[in-house]
Parts: sequence; structure tokens; C-alpha cells
Amino acid sequence: MRTLVIATRNKGKVKEIKAIFSDLNVDIIDLNNFKDIPEIYEDGETFEANALKKAREVYGILKLPVLSDDSGLEVEFLNNQPGVLSARFAGEPTNFANNNAKLLKLLENVPDVSRKARFRCVVVFKTEEKEEIAEGICSGKIIEQLRGTGGFGYDPLFIPDGFNLTFAEMPQELKNKISHRAQALNKIKPFIVHFFNKI
Ligand code: IMP
Repeated sequence: MRTLVIATRNKGKVKEIKAIFSDLNVDIIDLNNFKDIPEIYEDGETFEANALKKAREVYGILKLPVLSDDSGLEVEFLNNQPGVLSARFAGEPTNFANNNAKLLKLLENVPDVSRKARFRCVVVFKTEEKEEIAEGICSGKIIEQLRGTGGFGYDPLFIPDGFNLTFAEMPQELKNKISHRAQALNKIKPFIVHFFNKI
């Protein structure tokens, strides 16, 4: 069975992952197809710990090849916060608007040169025999007000290095070429291709 389970319910991520893997000839499903799987609490101290936890828990329940990811934003001026707490920066449940408002407040009056930030993403591909891990990083800066309506999360506040558009202003195809998630997924893709070529 050529099925890959993405261990997330985040529709923004699912859309990005499906676009990057559109040439794989594999059925890609996500946790929205499995309402009974409990929420996996991301209590690890690193992106890698959280991604591994998600992959192992979902694999343990479904026994299907799983791709998990954990990602977040690290802001230099905030000592790399919100980091692994990116999703619930302004509390639970996750609220992107509140997270962005909190970030802007913490960076109020901080000059442009000190607004460096980076998105990081760690992905895990887990099968019965193996766990492969890959990381992607996208560096840029946090601007002073929201711009754009695409993407999700902190996208309206993040301009990647070398561009003048926020992630939320870019066409999805462009974000998918340069994002932290795209880089991590493109690194792990050969392992997924190899696995599905064998079965
Ligand atoms: P995760 O689901 O634990 O990986 O949560 C990652 C959180 O980091 C999301 O809820 C967003 O707040 C933020 N994040 C990760 N990747 C992106 C991105 O590509 N754009 C905007 N925000 C992101």
C-alpha cells in the first residue's frame, strides 16, 4: 500500500507538504482522516524530540509509514523564543493572531537590525525499520506590521533574506521553494522515494 501519513492536523502544513511531494505517486493522508487519534502533546525541548515523538506515536497506532515535522520561529532578540513554543506562544489553544500580536508587542521599538529571525523545521520519516531525520532553516527578519493573507502562523510578519515580500505575500510556490519546511522535506524526500520504490 503506497500510503504516507502526515502526523499533523494543521491544514496549512498539509497543503505545503502535498505540494512538495506532488510528484511522489503516493497517497498522502493526514490526521484529519483519523479523528480518534488523540492530540499529541509537544512537550519536547527540541524540534527533533517533538518530531520523533509525533512520528513514533502515530506509527505505533497506525503502523503505516509516517512523516512528522516540528517547526517554529526563533527570534534572535528574544533569545531564540518562541522556538518549540511557537504554536502556543500566546497560550492555548493555538491562535495565530494572538501569537503575532504578542510577537509584535515584544519587538516594539526594536530597530530593524535587531529583528533577525529564522524558521526551523525538523522532519522525521518513520517506517517499521528506520527513522530518518532532516532539518531545514530559513533566515530572515520580523517586520513591524502584518502584511499579506497567505500561509499561516507567523507568515505575515516574516520576510526571508533576499526578498521584500513576507511569506504571507508570496505565491505558495515561492514559499515552497525556500521555506524551512521545503528544505527539510527535500532532504528527506530521497529516503521516502527509496522506501516506496522497494515495495
Ligand atoms: P508545530 O505544529 O508544532 O510545528 O508548530 C509550529 C508553529 O510554528 C506553528 O503553529 C506556527 O506558529 C509556527 N510556524 C512553523 N512553520 C511556520 C511557517 O511556515 N509559517 C509560519 N509559522 C510557522
